[in-house]
Amino acid sequence: MTRCSVDENVRPRRLSEFIGQVELRANLEVFLRAARERERAADHTLFYGNPGLGKTTLAKIIASEMGVNLVSTSGPVMERSGDLAAILTNLQAQDILFIDEIHRMPASVEEVLYPAMEDFKLDLVIGQGPGARTVKIDLEPFTLVGATTRLGLLTSPLRDRFGCIFRIDFYSPEELARIVHRASGILGMEVSDEGALAIGRRSRGTPRIANRLLRRVRDYMVVAGKDCVDQELAEMALQRLDVDPHGLDYMDRKILDVVVHQFGGGPVGVKTLAVACAEEVRTIEDIYEPYLIQCGFLQRTPRGRVATAKAYRHLKADPEPGLL
Ligand code: ADP
Repeated sequence: MTRCSVDENVRPRRLSEFIGQVELRANLEVFLRAARERERAADHTLFYGNPGLGKTTLAKIIASEMGVNLVSTSGPVMERSGDLAAILTNLQAQDILFIDEIHRMPASVEEVLYPAMEDFKLDLVIGQGPGARTVKIDLEPFTLVGATTRLGLLTSPLRDRFGCIFRIDFYSPEELARIVHRASGILGMEVSDEGALAIGRRSRGTPRIANRLLRRVRDYMVVAGKDCVDQELAEMALQRLDVDPHGLDYMDRKILDVVVHQFGGGPVGVKTLAVACAEEVRTIEDIYEPYLIQCGFLQRTPRGRVATAKAYRHLKADPEPGLL
């Protein structure tokens, strides 16, 4: 028996169930309809945006809207060019190959992708040294869907081979409230409009976090013996979970606290910041910093990260002279 995780249960399966990202959805709809009418594999597509914003979901939606198989892998999993070659030669016509974290693919693997994306051909090198020869193998026409949190880390030859590049933005609290409502319906629990908005406001613009907070709030609902998540219950539960009204959690506040109190408000380099917070550079850059910047708590400058006046107000700290 296969068990579906809660995340899989609430994941939208069709484009019509995908909430928010209105422009992206409209463009994707046209793009998929055109591919279906041409009866050809859709163009290679790249999604970029923070973790948890819906890149994997969109890859799965493309496959189900096109009525084809989805084969999933990720950049760091493929260590040798043969790993990718094995996947490519097993694809059927029009299949979707989804590569998550595509910016973390080794260069030798990436080179295999170029002719595959461009001409649906695989250049296999057989043997070594002067006797080595290249054999071209035809592949079935497929669609590569790539996902990355860091568009800037993609090499330009790879980026240029995508026909469509879509950016996924943070969601508004109202959109997240709709996502909470949809997920609560699937999970069979009742959430008031105000309760959903309270969760949406604290979800850092991210559906995956909204779904996670909803599940935690559900625990509080059960323990409190209630049958509906209202605003009061949601706010009480989230406060106990140490999520503040801006959606900042312990690590967000720690980052701001370190910049303000240990480095006089900055600038401080991200490596130093990571050591001071006992966190990985990549986690700070990919997960925490984009939201802190988006909310106006942190600025990225050429000399390092700088706390803003809003960060000082949030921490109730005295600002550096000249900040306010
Ligand atoms: P990513 O691949 O960008 O890290 P996912 O596609 O895995 O993110 O999304 C995380 C979860 O958030 C999914 O399981 C899905 O339930 C939910 N989700 C993401 N985007 C949406 C959306 N637009 N509408 C509804 N739910 C969404």
